[in-house]
Amino acid sequence: MRHTKIIATVGPASDSDVMLDALIAAGVDIFRLNFSHGTHESQRATFARVRAAAARARRQVAILQDLGGPKIRTGTLKGGRPIHVKPGDALRIATGDFVGGPGRLSTTFAALAQSVKIGDRLLLADGLVELRVEATNGTEIQTTVVEGGEIGEHKGINAPGVALATSAITMKDVTDLQLGLELGVDMVALSFVQNAADLRRARQLMADADAATVPLIAKLERPEALDHLDEILISCDAVMVARGDLGLEMPLERVPRAQKDITRRARRMGVPVIVATQVLESMTTEPRPTRAEVNDAASAVDDGVDAIMLAGETAVGAFATRAVQTLDTIIREAEAHPGAPPFSTPEEPLHDDHAQALCQAAVTLASGGDAQAIVAVTRAGGTARRLSTLRPWAPIIATTDRHEMARRLTLYWGVVPLRTDIGENVDATGALIGRELVALGLVAAGATIVLVSISPDLTRTDANYLKIQRL
Ligand code: PGA
Ligand code: MN
Repeated sequence: MRHTKIIATVGPASDSDVMLDALIAAGVDIFRLNFSHGTHESQRATFARVRAAAARARRQVAILQDLGGPKIRTGTLKGGRPIHVKPGDALRIATGDFVGGPGRLSTTFAALAQSVKIGDRLLLADGLVELRVEATNGTEIQTTVVEGGEIGEHKGINAPGVALATSAITMKDVTDLQLGLELGVDMVALSFVQNAADLRRARQLMADADAATVPLIAKLERPEALDHLDEILISCDAVMVARGDLGLEMPLERVPRAQKDITRRARRMGVPVIVATQVLESMTTEPRPTRAEVNDAASAVDDGVDAIMLAGETAVGAFATRAVQTLDTIIREAEAHPGAPPFSTPEEPLHDDHAQALCQAAVTLASGGDAQAIVAVTRAGGTARRLSTLRPWAPIIATTDRHEMARRLTLYWGVVPLRTDIGENVDATGALIGRELVALGLVAAGATIVLVSISPDLTRTDANYLKIQRL
């Protein structure tokens, strides 16, 4: 049993039936479709391939739609050939959709040339190249190269500290989101979130598409997001520490502290945390990770994050399956210490009601009674989510009659979603559930399980109880 979940990004290296099957077998819980790349046609095809692979594997595997957001990128280049710049070179960046070349790049992001000032820094291609702004006329920026390197087409441009008057939701995001919701994605991530208003706008768009309950993940990759972390945590269903852009938008040495701070505050509020980017980066080209990478992933597990995400490793890497297998073993080893930090619970109980009390009692009963699983009957997912925040050692088997709910629950630490037709009455169906769990290999015959059923309605006689039972 692995508690911490694995998210893998689909890309050219993994977008085939054979690779998706292998990645699921290696332990992927959620596939990220990165809408910064691809066309609606290709995303539609990928979506179908992932669903088919999950069906073949008979596993609950979710699809996360990652909206590109207002990422500034370089335009196309003559012959698609990257340009090379060295310190002291002059380089111009002009607003428009034209083919750039040596000395002059294009970007369609108009706000950049309007917002930069003399002396601002621009970081290109994941920070490889650094430019200093010498002048701008509102549509064309003149810069001097400070740090040289290669710049390709569609590479990222970051302008740390520059206030860009943009929303986290671009026109492209709106149409991408419409497609995603139409396809039926299981969760949506919003890039470059700055505050709760960005999330409210996304939620409104989702409500307009009749998908208000699809979980919304806030990608924290701008310093502004950290200034508004409390309101963001209240307004989203999960957060992602997006270390790629975060490490460009703020000094890199501040990212470790930001990650720990976000994790601690999110966990205190019961909001799932995803750690992303460069987790096993070296495995993009090498069969083995570095010591530092292994340490970083294990340390995130110790901090109690819900999920760890692979990006380039599975999207374009030469060792995609191996990267997932490696992450799986790192997590299992890190988790193999009962009483280690992830198994601690938030100091303050999240809620003060009978549901919270029942969940706490279920966890106590499971550990005291040496149960192999906590089985939660959870139509809307709330019981499973609460149990997850308590970080019990026993797996939380979340039985739900809804496929979409089962897939959404893949994100939560320690939760094993199980789609079953069994009804809500645990007392009458406990034996049935037990038989199904054994048949699926989720618990051994003769194992002890804890059953918990919670309803806000205290007058119901068939809900709100806890029981321990040997199968
Ligand atoms: P991205 O987000 O991969 O969509 O850029 C993650 C990050 O910035 O770390
Ligand atoms: Mn990013």
